[in-house]
Amino acid sequence: MSDVKRVYAFSEGGAEMKFALGGKGANLAEMTKLGLPVPPGFTITCQTCVEYSTGGSRFPEGLQQDIDAYLADLEKTMGKKLGDADDPLLASVRSGAPFSMPGMMDTILNLGLNDQSVQGVIKQTDNARFAWDSYRRFVQMFSKTALNVDGDLFENAINAMKQLRGVRNDTDLTADDMKQLTEQFKEIVAEHVSGEDFPELVTSGEVAFPQDVTVQLRLAIEAVFRSWMNKRAVEYRRLYRIPDDLGTAVNVQTMVFGNKGETSGTGVAFTRNPADGTREYYGDFLTNAQGEDVVAGIRNTQPIADLRKALPEAGEALWKVFVILENHYRDMCDIEFTVEQGKLWMLQTRVGKRTARAALKVAVDMVSEGLISRDEAVLRIDVDQLDQLLHPQFDTTATYDVLTKGLNASPGAAVGEAVFTADEAERLAAEGHKVILIRWETTPDDLHGMIAAQGILTSHGGKTSHAAVIARGMGKPCVCGADELKIDAKNRVVHVGGIDINEGDILSIDGTTGTVVLGAVSLVEPKPSGEFATILLWADEFRTMGVRVNADTPDDAIRGRELGASGVGLCRTEHMFLGERKAIVQNMILSDREETTSAALAQLLKVQRADFIGIFKAMDGLTVTVRLLDPPLHEFLDNPRELEVAITKGECSGSDMTVERKLLGQIDAMTESNPMLGLRGCRLGIMYPQIYGMQVRAITEAACELKKAGGDPRPEIMIPLVSIVNELETLRAESEAIVAEVQAEQGVSLDIPIGTMIELPRAALTADEIGKVADFFSFGTNDLTQTTFGFSRDDIEGKFLPRYLDRKILSRNPFETVDSGVAELVRIGCEKGRAANPALHLGVCGEHGGDPESVKTFHKIGLDYVSCSPFRVPIARLAAAQAALEEATSGSDNR
Ligand code: ADP
Ligand code: MG
Ligand code: MG
Repeated sequence: MSDVKRVYAFSEGGAEMKFALGGKGANLAEMTKLGLPVPPGFTITCQTCVEYSTGGSRFPEGLQQDIDAYLADLEKTMGKKLGDADDPLLASVRSGAPFSMPGMMDTILNLGLNDQSVQGVIKQTDNARFAWDSYRRFVQMFSKTALNVDGDLFENAINAMKQLRGVRNDTDLTADDMKQLTEQFKEIVAEHVSGEDFPELVTSGEVAFPQDVTVQLRLAIEAVFRSWMNKRAVEYRRLYRIPDDLGTAVNVQTMVFGNKGETSGTGVAFTRNPADGTREYYGDFLTNAQGEDVVAGIRNTQPIADLRKALPEAGEALWKVFVILENHYRDMCDIEFTVEQGKLWMLQTRVGKRTARAALKVAVDMVSEGLISRDEAVLRIDVDQLDQLLHPQFDTTATYDVLTKGLNASPGAAVGEAVFTADEAERLAAEGHKVILIRWETTPDDLHGMIAAQGILTSHGGKTSHAAVIARGMGKPCVCGADELKIDAKNRVVHVGGIDINEGDILSIDGTTGTVVLGAVSLVEPKPSGEFATILLWADEFRTMGVRVNADTPDDAIRGRELGASGVGLCRTEHMFLGERKAIVQNMILSDREETTSAALAQLLKVQRADFIGIFKAMDGLTVTVRLLDPPLHEFLDNPRELEVAITKGECSGSDMTVERKLLGQIDAMTESNPMLGLRGCRLGIMYPQIYGMQVRAITEAACELKKAGGDPRPEIMIPLVSIVNELETLRAESEAIVAEVQAEQGVSLDIPIGTMIELPRAALTADEIGKVADFFSFGTNDLTQTTFGFSRDDIEGKFLPRYLDRKILSRNPFETVDSGVAELVRIGCEKGRAANPALHLGVCGEHGGDPESVKTFHKIGLDYVSCSPFRVPIARLAAAQAALEEATSGSDNR
């Protein structure tokens, strides 16, 4: 044996070894250790796959000997030999990566069958049909995956055979039919495989299906190694951010047979309901079937609850296994099993994938069952997944006609145009359309279309079908098995009842109930309740960082408060200058007459005061950080191009068009070639003190009014885009003067902190100076990202960012997840600011405040709070709790 250990018997491994043995291999070993009935076998490590790929697709030195040795052991244990003409051992060769990638890679069953050993199987089982069926399945699967033969060639041959015999199902074909099919399959191989690609298949100049079982095993192992890099596996990894250099393990396992008649069968199951978390066994099985028959939707499956009736001995055994697995893994598990003539065999288990709803229910239930602790429950929730629950649902007050119903395979509702192919879904989505992908059943080849679609609708397949599993993983609504749909993908139409749905017709689907509706149903955003609310309350006990909401209107503020925000971290005022108020703003900006300007300002003061009263009322008792006007002023002016066109066409008010000409001149004079870096933020406050003055007055007057009425308004004034301490010093002094003036006028005393946004690198780097004149910092990480990279956010997303991500120049969009360089500026800003002013309050108000990974970064830096859009508030609460819990665990590890 070589010095690197590349092969492990199932009896040698364990669940903790998933990076060596892959998830499947590690858990097969774990189940073996638990004494569960697992067909014996061995696992070749993931690292070996990496060696194979990087070493020019060749077995590393010594691997073949290791495999021979482990195979010899296995043969000894089983008392059978691979390829034996009398009583052969048969094996499956199964892929299995460290992270589950359902259906993405290849598995070969019944390996070891050849013209001799098939006779051995007939002799042992006295069942020629079973033997030939197994052999033809092997030739088919092996040739497709290991020899790259087009799978349709085999399917066509089977269909031709069924037609010839006048039967509908595979199960109606006889032993002799299967034997003939095996022969035909071998001919297909001889015809379609090139001897140059597979020299080991050439004997006396002719290509033939390999009869040598060691050649079969070797080619099968290589096929699994290669499948790690196949297109759909690569795409799946990209979607789930699984690194490419992990490799897949190969499991070689003794075959058991679910296709030995009515006392045999195969199935998949979960220990709880993976869609809603209910404590019930969940899944499907088929009698007299092998391998993928259950998920392939070939025949109609039976619910797992019926297993104890159909196959009582195996059913009882499986119910015991469910309990053992849950207690052992302390989590919901999913399993694959086969029953061979009444005896149960476990073929796979892992911690089961689940919807966000199910994850919450399972976590809360397991705490009350005493299986896990509260902090484990909080840590277990996949925060990214929670997004699903904050996604729209059918409005319960909407009225609509149900077109048809399918299985509620993945929750959430979606509205979009019907499309029939994955490519079309991708194309239309890229053009900005919302689409619903309709398929008979999805396959891994549809993945890109599923990514592009709002929701997925299939006419076939159960809740464990490909469409259901993948959609749940992606958090997309899915209705599957809607069998009234008669899909004619070629003509791009679905018939259902008397109605036709053509490509482009609007459909609504609700994956929570399985409802399909023709036309658009209005959707609503739900509120966390039940287990979701419980988990959030627990999270609040663990987190140390505050969570506020970004809200510009009383409605958003109320919504944020309902979702658990402890204040408004960013209240933007520019939106308040739009709509009918735009004209007042224009008057103010453009007028060269003092009176016009003051009149416009007085008008704005009135409406702004009303705005602030609304928001402070909604947030009574909680802080509201109001940002003074930030964007470049010309954003409030008319588009000069339109004005120019109007002038040219003579479509203006007066005959001489002097007004328009003057306006155009003024707008032109204000236009900047680089507005992002121009007259905006505090620079506006310096240039137009009367605007900031009006805003500060409005804030203070609003607060005074509420306070007089017995309220508890808590505004903060935030000055944007400061890069030089003197900017803040100047504006702070001016603001304080107005606050004092208003307080004196109103006879009310208030404490209104004044702080700044840190959104320019210079501000972060000179935070020791700025910190001395600020009561708080709020890191504006959107602008800070723009100015740190020198990227214009509005432009790069449609231009070079996708290429940067594709080529892995950037691993993440820095506007979604805070970049390490930007985070470093935040860290420096905090450190310097706090050193200068220990009372300084620190927060983040960019979009990053609602991104779980960024929230964790901010926790590590030591910010006091994050602020994010209303529907991200629950996500930030949970992410902040996880950050605190993770820190506590890693802290105790170090000690
Ligand atoms: P996947 O990764 O796609 O789940 P698996 O390796 O689990 O692929 O194989 C798919 C199916 O093949 C299993 O669910 C099981 O039904 C069948 N299978 C695999 N190995 C064996 C075996 N040793 N005996 C019987 N059936 C097997
Ligand atoms: Mg499997
Ligand atoms: Mg900004």
